[in-house]
Amino acid sequence: MPALTPDTTGSQPSGTWPDELTRAALQLVAEAVTELAGFGLAAVSVAGDDDLLHVIAVSGDAETRDQLVGMVTPTSDLVAGLRRADDWGHFKFVPHERAGEVPWGWVPDVGAPESEDDWHPLDLLIAPLYDGEGALRGTLAIDLPDDGRRPDEARRARLERFAEQAERTIVKALDRERLAHRVRLAAAVRDVVRRGAAGNSLTSVVDEINESLCRAFDAAGFWIRVFDGTNRVAGRGGTEAAWLQVGDPLTGTGRRVAERLWASQQVCCLGTDGYRHDFPGTPEEAAQIEDFVRERGFGLVLYTPLGAGGECLGALSLARRPGAPRWSADEVAAVREVGRDLGQVLLNTLAIEREQQLVQTLRELDAYKSRLIGVVSEELGRPLATIAAAVDRLTEVTTPDGAGRMVSAMGRSTQRMIRLVDDLALLSKVGDPATPIVGRPVDLVPIVREVCQLTEIAAQQRNQTIYLQLPDTDPVLVLGDEAELDRVVLNLLSNAVKYTPDGRSVTVSLRRRGDDTVELAIADQGIGISKADQERLFTEFFRSTNPEALRQPGTGLGLAIVDRIVRRHGGRVDVDAELGRGSTFRVTLVGA
Ligand code: ADP
Repeated sequence: MPALTPDTTGSQPSGTWPDELTRAALQLVAEAVTELAGFGLAAVSVAGDDDLLHVIAVSGDAETRDQLVGMVTPTSDLVAGLRRADDWGHFKFVPHERAGEVPWGWVPDVGAPESEDDWHPLDLLIAPLYDGEGALRGTLAIDLPDDGRRPDEARRARLERFAEQAERTIVKALDRERLAHRVRLAAAVRDVVRRGAAGNSLTSVVDEINESLCRAFDAAGFWIRVFDGTNRVAGRGGTEAAWLQVGDPLTGTGRRVAERLWASQQVCCLGTDGYRHDFPGTPEEAAQIEDFVRERGFGLVLYTPLGAGGECLGALSLARRPGAPRWSADEVAAVREVGRDLGQVLLNTLAIEREQQLVQTLRELDAYKSRLIGVVSEELGRPLATIAAAVDRLTEVTTPDGAGRMVSAMGRSTQRMIRLVDDLALLSKVGDPATPIVGRPVDLVPIVREVCQLTEIAAQQRNQTIYLQLPDTDPVLVLGDEAELDRVVLNLLSNAVKYTPDGRSVTVSLRRRGDDTVELAIADQGIGISKADQERLFTEFFRSTNPEALRQPGTGLGLAIVDRIVRRHGGRVDVDAELGRGSTFRVTLVGA
């Protein structure tokens, strides 16, 4: 047996590796070999990802078993040792004469042999075990022949048969375990990614994946950093509730390393003991990361780039405590997969975050605009009122010839300005979330009747007919602000009259609908609205590019006011219009 040392490196692939079932299977093989082949000791070692052979099962007396299980030996020692061996088929025999300077492995406490055919305590009989692809998976070593002699031809033939069987059984058990481990990891990867996709910010993604990620990869903590200019980093410590205080995220180095890894689709591992695996940076960069990891109480980090397409968006660091086992090749492969899928999750998350920020900025801008309009209209309102009063007075006093016409023109202009300023003030008020409506039940029937009467004059001047369709029974109640609702009906009906050629008709209808909503529809046979204009109809100051529409005076505030009022009443406005044929505006409100 090659030189055995206790596993003090902490490099055993995993504390629970191989699983109980596999250990039991290997133990059975070891026991069968000692019993059937007539040897006092059999030891099965398994090759780990750490290039060490780990003694897993030993058949022999209890003391020897305790002594050997858990010991490790470098695979390279075995390979070197086998060069000095006699080839007996599966088993290789290294007689003590050729054992070399280093006494190999376990030396039984038996007396020195008397003849050349006797078994020597330093003799070594070991079968390297390979899988179907020729990869070394472990060894079966036997010692202490019952008859105290080196095996003769007949015994070697029997041993060959045992070795064949043992190899098959051991490789199968290890394959089963590896497969089970991979299946578990694949399920864990899916779980981590599914959870991550539920988050809509960096911190919520970290929170969501915390437990399943740490459990799947035996990590004591992890952190994700993003390279989006904000240099944010967020991390958690598995079952520990607290957020990891990751601190300075080492952005420059972290980013450079992650980008190199993403370009080659790799992940890397670093240990505070100098361990490096696939690290694509300079020794200085490695030392920087090592210090970073050590200062946060970890001993080992698995660094995975997170990206989408050609872009590296961030990095995931999984950490283990000092002395913890290194990550196995299967774990590394699984984490690489997590990296790819989490990259997509991160891409979406960052997009959502950006969108939320944009919405927030737009809201603030909108509020600012409302405030600005409010201030301007207030400031204009006061001097305008003074001018209007003065113009009124002027019409009463005697004026020189011709001045009367000028004064009445001034009066009309002043009234138009007052209407504009009033509209601006109203727009500012109804667009401001800080002044919500105080809703009361309002009957829409009298409002609609009055507005129709008021508009009737303008309609008659244009030889138009306004048809009014009301429900048979009063009232039609909605919850809201009477003055604002009055304004909605007025703006829509005056537009209908304004944008409808002479001699045609406008129909106003009000009805309750089955779903507890109320619908007010104002349909005209006017100039209609193009599809492109319909998109922007409710934007303040929007006026159509249609020359027919532009012939009518207007400011582009009427529909913006309608839309704001209806929306703050929890309703909506729909337009159904066709150029040259007419338009229908439908307001849906919640019934009271
Ligand atoms: P204004 O009428 O002061 O221009 P509005 O906000 O009320 O502003 O309307 C915006 C634009 O929508 C109008 O300029 C007009 O082009 C179009 N519009 C509104 N109502 C109608 C309608 N009933 N028929 C055709 N076009 C309309």
